[in-house]
Amino acid sequence: MAEKFDAIVVGAGPAGNAAAYTMAKAGLSVLQLERGETPGTKNVQGAILYADALERIIPDFRDDAPLERHVIEQRMWVLDEKSFIGTNYRSDAFNSDQPNRYTILRAPFDKWFSGKVKAAGGLVICETTVTELIQEGKKVIGVRTDREGGDIYADVVILADGVNSLLAKKAGFHGELEAKNVALAVKEIHFLPEEVVQSRFNIKGNEGVVIEIAGAVTHGMVGTAFLYTNKESITLGIGCLLSDFKKAGIAPYTLLEELKAHPAIAPLIAGGEMKEYAAHLIPEGGYKAVPTLYGDGWMIAGDSAGLVNAVHREGSNLAMTSGRLAAETVIALKEMKLPCTAPHLARYKAALDDSFVMKDLRKYKELPDVLHSNPHFFSVYPQLLNRAAHTMLMVDGQDKHSKEKTIRGSFVQQRSLWGLVGDAYRMWRATR
Ligand SMILES: Cc1cc2nc3c(=O)[nH]c(=O)nc-3n(C[C@H](O)[C@H](O)[C@H](O)COP(=O)(O)OP(=O)(O)OC[C@H]3O[C@@H](n4cnc5c(N)ncnc54)[C@H](O)[C@@H]3O)c2cc1C
Repeated sequence: MAEKFDAIVVGAGPAGNAAAYTMAKAGLSVLQLERGETPGTKNVQGAILYADALERIIPDFRDDAPLERHVIEQRMWVLDEKSFIGTNYRSDAFNSDQPNRYTILRAPFDKWFSGKVKAAGGLVICETTVTELIQEGKKVIGVRTDREGGDIYADVVILADGVNSLLAKKAGFHGELEAKNVALAVKEIHFLPEEVVQSRFNIKGNEGVVIEIAGAVTHGMVGTAFLYTNKESITLGIGCLLSDFKKAGIAPYTLLEELKAHPAIAPLIAGGEMKEYAAHLIPEGGYKAVPTLYGDGWMIAGDSAGLVNAVHREGSNLAMTSGRLAAETVIALKEMKLPCTAPHLARYKAALDDSFVMKDLRKYKELPDVLHSNPHFFSVYPQLLNRAAHTMLMVDGQDKHSKEKTIRGSFVQQRSLWGLVGDAYRMWRATR
């Protein structure tokens, strides 16, 4: 343990595993520390795995990664209390040899990824919590752990310790996580026979369906729910901003119970055996909440850097990409025999800026503020849309012109003409 490593990686989630694997494969001496009993035991994710990010790290991952189903259909549902209005996109093109998205279960997936780190020559030590960073002046030179004699040194420390990143906070690299920038999500996994999953979702073999859900189930709070099909189970979850939970005084579990009881959801999970329940935070502050990403002897990646695209529910791919880019920065500096000081580690930020990670976060940079200050997007519109569909589809002797007038009237009554125009403009600006 007294040995000095080229790099220490804190955490064995997608970001940490991507960083540790990339460096170990390049021949660097890498130590990875994980507080969980095994990688994955502390991790919670829906979960959709985006193949592209992993393929750039392990091109043949499909050969042995524990994948559940490849996604061929995406549904988007906007719920009110009794109904939903939605869209579907399903394509046989997603049945290619190299599917683009998979559902996974994090515990086996993280364990598999960590096995790759070990096979590449990285030293992975679990059940070890890094308690603080060791600094010489401003430079990070190693980590202190909860093990006896637990000081370990390295040229660079990559912090991939997830959303709370207590280490970066303790070292003063970033401040407290604000409740308005973080969502609290709860999820359950309901087990069902494989053929039941297939028939309920009209799929065959390993095809999968995901449903993204918004509307009444969040009680007007900024948040969404999701349902993902696994091989022999269904993952169902819901998350809202922590600040909204505080204000509303509603427990997250209440929302999940209501979601499960909704007439659109209940039949899909009926008869399932619930075997796993978990709660976790998701950093959703977006671009404006991303902290300083590097300094002398350290970089920060994944959730600990707030790299989550909440609009598209992408997190693990941003985590893996940032972990890989941090690792590639270290590899390049080693090759050039340059020290891991802030001016050189700035390459990491430049690489991130040049990637989809920062480009996507920048695209939606105004959205968190807009959603926060316009809660009617999550309460009024779902009701109006559902009511409009109901009015239009009820064949009751009323002519269609009158129905359209009624629908227009209900929108104007709820939001006013200028309100509607303002909402459209705000949404356009925040997502362009
Ligand atoms: C309910 C839910 C659903 C989600 N769904 C999706 C989805 O469908 N698709 C998607 O792409 N993303 C999804 N996400 C987001 C995704 O899970 C994260 O973006 C991703 O896990 C971030 O990876 P990470 O490696 O940065 O952090 P984590 O996965 O949180 O890993 C951090 C690791 O560090 C360890 N650690 C922490 N502190 C220490 C310490 N001091 N010492 C040692 N080890 C430490 C932890 O035990 C953990 O293993 C979801 C998140 C949640 C909560």
